[in-house]
Amino acid sequence: MDDLIKKTAKKLVLAKNVAALTGAGISVESNIPPFRGPGGIWEKIDPMQYAHIDAFIKDPVKVWDVLLKNMKEIIDLAKPNDAHLGLARLEKLGILKTIITQNVDQLHQKAGNTDVIEFHGNFAWQRCMKCNNRFETRKVDLTKLPPQCECGEIYRPECVFFGEMIPPDDIERSEQVALECDIMLVIGTSAVVQPAAHIPVLAKRSGATIIEINPERTPLTKNISDWIIIGQAGRIMNNIIAELEAFL
Ligand code: NAD
Ligand code: ZN
Repeated sequence: MDDLIKKTAKKLVLAKNVAALTGAGISVESNIPPFRGPGGIWEKIDPMQYAHIDAFIKDPVKVWDVLLKNMKEIIDLAKPNDAHLGLARLEKLGILKTIITQNVDQLHQKAGNTDVIEFHGNFAWQRCMKCNNRFETRKVDLTKLPPQCECGEIYRPECVFFGEMIPPDDIERSEQVALECDIMLVIGTSAVVQPAAHIPVLAKRSGATIIEINPERTPLTKNISDWIIIGQAGRIMNNIIAELEAFL
């Protein structure tokens, strides 16, 4: 693994245009559980019952009670971990340009990254379903659910539910980033949710080196990734940054 970390650091120093694709795994060390895998939210609840837009429209109080309340409590307390901070450091060093994330926790922005494409929106804001008025999620009063706008309609989180479209502009920009980057770091994503999982495939086809960081192998590992560094993202990013700073 030390060899792969050295190799990654060297490659990053020489690269001209680095992008990262991140998933729920990068926030696990910030105590936000992922959806899939051990300890994942899907072990406890059925996504179609609670994370589908139809479920939210049919019974917003139920969706708040079972999924969103818990997400709010966890995300309110979460702080960027070493993996988020490492990516912010890479941007400061002029190495990393853009992060494409599937996460809704805004920890990349909190860590200091300035160009973050949020494929699935974010959970930091609620938007009125009628007048588009916005309200900060951290200010939602959990004793009166669902949160309601002054106009009388309910608020919904600004994230993309199952059954909803990813904003076409975000897809288009991500594809552009994939085509232009010479390295794509793929961190903490199970790479099974489309269209995000397709982004590294595009990058690979246009000649980028794909480097995965994940405790588990994924569907990308065998044919798309150039290599995978197996393990937790925080410690691996710390080691990469330490190696890389020694090269500068
Ligand atoms: P996922 O839940 O499907 O998979 C998580 C991946 O992270 C797995 O491959 C797992 O092996 C890996 N992982 C676990 N611990 C890790 C660690 N310490 N370091 C690095 N990797 C680790 O996540 P996904 O692929 O992002 O897709 C699921 C969807 O879940 C996303 O669309 C996202 O919107 C949503 N989600 C977001 C959050 C968040 O905002 N933090 C949390 C849960 C789910
Ligand atoms: Zn309103």
